Amino acid sequence: MGVAGIWAVLKDVPDPEIPAVSILDLGIVRAVEEEKVVITPTYSGCPATDFIEQSIREALDAAGYRDVAIVTVLSPPWTTDWISEEGREKLRAYGIAPPELAKAATCPRCGSSDTEEVSRFGSTPCKAQWRCKDCLEPFDRFKCH
Ligand SMILES: [Zn+2]
Repeated sequence: MGVAGIWAVLKDVPDPEIPAVSILDLGIVRAVEEEKVVITPTYSGCPATDFIEQSIREALDAAGYRDVAIVTVLSPPWTTDWISEEGREKLRAYGIAPPELAKAATCPRCGSSDTEEVSRFGSTPCKAQWRCKDCLEPFDRFKCH
């Protein structure tokens, strides 16, 4: 029990949109204390936000942390900078271009930066669809707000 135990529970909570990465990988968890978990959703208004909180609640309850509250903090807003190195690796392996600050996305398949945005709407509202001009492979990319 305790803070370390809570971290261990959170480590196993997958992101609802990309199950390959955990909410810790994405940097959604801001702080963990004995009685509360502070989270910042990836995007306010993202339909996955409620689901993330629900997933955390269920995981905490299942591990016996029923008294631990989940507090959502919207400021400062989540940025893609909070994604851990491990999270970026997992995203890459999953075929999603890790968000970079650079304008062009790098193709997760061949590494080419000769890419174009095809649609602002990818497989989920939080991702945009891109296409690589070299290997012509379509891929999803996080929208950088
Ligand atoms: Zn490519």
